[in-house]
Amino acid sequence: MKADVFVRAGFTGTVLLKEPLKRHCTFCIGGPAQFFLVPRSVEDARVALQLAGQEGLPLYILGGGSNILAPDEGLRGVVLCTRGGLEGLAFEDGLIRAGAGVTDEALAEYALERNLAGFEWIFDIPGTVGGAVFMNAGNNEGDAASNATLVRWLDRGGVLHETAASDLDFSYRHSVFHSRPGLVVEALLHGSGQDDPTAIRARMDAGRALRKSKFPAEALCAGSVFKRPKGDYAGRLIEVSGCGGLKIGDAKVSEKHKGFIVNCGQATGQEVRDLVREVQRRVLDSQGVALEPEVCLLEDKRFI
Ligand SMILES: Cc1cc2nc3c(=O)[nH]c(=O)nc-3n(C[C@H](O)[C@H](O)[C@H](O)COP(=O)(O)OP(=O)(O)OC[C@H]3O[C@@H](n4cnc5c(N)ncnc54)[C@H](O)[C@@H]3O)c2cc1C
Repeated sequence: MKADVFVRAGFTGTVLLKEPLKRHCTFCIGGPAQFFLVPRSVEDARVALQLAGQEGLPLYILGGGSNILAPDEGLRGVVLCTRGGLEGLAFEDGLIRAGAGVTDEALAEYALERNLAGFEWIFDIPGTVGGAVFMNAGNNEGDAASNATLVRWLDRGGVLHETAASDLDFSYRHSVFHSRPGLVVEALLHGSGQDDPTAIRARMDAGRALRKSKFPAEALCAGSVFKRPKGDYAGRLIEVSGCGGLKIGDAKVSEKHKGFIVNCGQATGQEVRDLVREVQRRVLDSQGVALEPEVCLLEDKRFI
């Protein structure tokens, strides 16, 4: 199948062939995607979904690639990447309408420009709006659920739906899209009210500085590898299990933040997976806690 089939079907965005996935995720790991598509519009996304369905091509959704591990051998089929496309932002009736591909940082800056508080927490999270909704990304200061009013999404057949946030089954690092697949294309988001922009900026900068002091700076990683177990912290359990600094190949448990696994330069996806399993084994053996991964294996998240 040739790339121009997407163009002939009406797709107006970017189509790349055999695009290395390592270029599109913060782990900097992953082989080529047969077709790497960046839609310019919701209509583009619909065309991609429908064509992939007709042609029997698997399709995977990618946002900022900050919470995924892509396979070393790459992926057959389509990787549909919202980052770089679907980047519309608008302010209507006190709500922000953000395309799925808008980065979290751009969203926070956009709210600040409108003196709108309540988005400071997302400023330093390196993903997109679509990824934040899917994961219900968050930290101590807020989460996607606390801003979401309504989400627009496409089902596998390309039909557009609108769902109120109250029906999105948000909980810790969970949304309805984990069990009912949907491509998030847009979210309507509310803030917590108007505030002095200097105060908003100060909170954004303070949050970023705090995170910088806790997280390994400039590391190739996907943030916390494991979900927070009830009543405890993955980082603490990993530390007391003696896993800090544990290394397999070029994949290493960060010494600065034990919940992070970092790519020291040439790590393969297999090395990261092996290290994840080894950490899980050691924590289970010594602490009796089964750590659940937060990072998504892209091949397990097949949409079509
Ligand atoms: C240094 C660092 C710090 C981090 N800190 C935090 C933190 O404090 N809190 C936190 O929650 N996370 C954190 N993360 C993890 C990550 O940034 C978030 O989970 C983020 O929301 C993922 O968004 P993304 O766009 O990068 O999604 P991706 O990594 O591209 O994808 C993640 C999952 O979402 C799905 N997805 C992405 N876009 C869509 C869409 N439009 N529609 C449907 N499904 C979609 C993908 O298929 C995949 O299954 C951190 C990561 C890093 C590297």
